[in-house]
Amino acid sequence: MSALLSVEDHRARVLAAVFLLPAETVGLSDAAGRTLAEPVLAAHDLPGDDNSSMDGFAVRFADVASADATTPVSLCVVADLPAGTADDPALSAGEAARIMTGAPVPTDADAIVPFEDTAGGLADSLGTVEVHRAPAAAGAFVRRRGGDTRAGDAVLSAGERLGPFALAAAAAAGVDVVRVARRPRVAVVSTGSELVAPGRVPGRGQTPDSNATLLASLVAGADAEVDLVDRVDDDPAGIEAVLGRAARADVVVFTGGVSAGAYEPVRLALSDRIAFDKVAMQPGKPQAFGVLADGRLVFGLPGNPVSVAVSFEVFVRPALLALQGRAVIDRRIARLTASETWTTPPGRRQYLPAAIDLVAGTVRPATAGGSGSHLAASLARAEAFAVIPAEVSTVSVGDPLDVMLIP
Ligand code: AMP
Ligand code: MG
Repeated sequence: MSALLSVEDHRARVLAAVFLLPAETVGLSDAAGRTLAEPVLAAHDLPGDDNSSMDGFAVRFADVASADATTPVSLCVVADLPAGTADDPALSAGEAARIMTGAPVPTDADAIVPFEDTAGGLADSLGTVEVHRAPAAAGAFVRRRGGDTRAGDAVLSAGERLGPFALAAAAAAGVDVVRVARRPRVAVVSTGSELVAPGRVPGRGQTPDSNATLLASLVAGADAEVDLVDRVDDDPAGIEAVLGRAARADVVVFTGGVSAGAYEPVRLALSDRIAFDKVAMQPGKPQAFGVLADGRLVFGLPGNPVSVAVSFEVFVRPALLALQGRAVIDRRIARLTASETWTTPPGRRQYLPAAIDLVAGTVRPATAGGSGSHLAASLARAEAFAVIPAEVSTVSVGDPLDVMLIP
């Protein structure tokens, strides 16, 4: 029996073969989910001016420092400053400007009195305002220019994913185009003479091809582009033909046909070009990976649907993210407590489809059927994979476990 390769060793081989895709320039509206190839530098200070964080009155703090309910201070309102105004009215001692949230604070003012702290509220547009509570200090309710970011500072780093918050940060910092990695183009190929298209009633010996749907969705979730979805039967010639159809792809992912059976088309067609290994994990033991002469990365995943889901998380997704230059290529891990007991295979790390309760801090198998890697429909109940070390053979109630969270 050949020795098993560790998960880390196989993953290291995969990542060592990954190259960085070229960068391109895109507008923010096309940048969602893309990975920054360069940092985003603020084009200007943000906020761009000292501005008011309240609706109220811009004042000279010294004028109102003594104001309270019994000894209010009256100021003369000499200007009105709505949001969007560029005005910078001069204020002499005893003068104030009515100001709305976000409007620039006059150069001569150094604090804002919210209208709630005045007698007349916002009604005092021009005339007199009576302040009956002093601001806490000079600077009260003034948002400082550059308080969020300074011109030239990096608001986002290379390797960051442009999610909604990151995209908004770029926009706020005055940036409308970004340098990002090209999306990896991925071909997804199911192998198996037993497979039929979903929706067709399977005859005896047939089963729906669910891996193509699974992988296409997982690839999109890894911010890559599904370039081709194809299916071939268990004939090695079909593998050759599909590689021709996948000529544009950066990555080709086969499912099925990599293990030790008599009809394993991926193995028969590609064993002279890519490596076939046994990895110390469950599910997902048979794994194939290599780089074709033209540079395409090829994965051969075992065909059982749960094996595909796990193999994708452990090997393919990190590779797709690394191709984009993503700084973080791993899922988040939570430490949760087992709420059920189960056994795990000796000498192999288990990735068990799991249901989690983040409030209670617990994890349990997603299905009563245990770890069966063929449970394609039951996989829908998994929210995470519990990761059980190879040397553990039984998980008991109360054991702390690392759990890979799948959003
Ligand atoms: P294999 O790795 O080719 O030996 O396949 C292992 C098991 O996974 C078999 O029971 C296959 O029928 C099943 N299987 C393979 N490919 C798919 C697929 N695309 N969709 C659903 N099940 C599959
Ligand atoms: Mg097969």
